[in-house]
Amino acid sequence: MPVYTYICSECGARFEQRRSFKDGDGNITCPNGHVNVRREYSAPSVVFKGSGWYSTDHRKKSTEAVKD
Ligand SMILES: [Zn+2]
Repeated sequence: MPVYTYICSECGARFEQRRSFKDGDGNITCPNGHVNVRREYSAPSVVFKGSGWYSTDHRKKSTEAVKD
């Protein structure tokens, strides 16, 4: 049976559960007893791009001394 990682949405606890496909995601509680948990997927679904992020608040004004 595959082991899934779950994260509690209430207390943030991260735990693993062994689930069969027929069990699905039902009846899973976090170690602290919360039922509001979601499955964490191992594959990264969000790719952060370093480029293209501009902060206009901290824009440096380049002081270029053009000597000519
Ligand atoms: Zn919890």
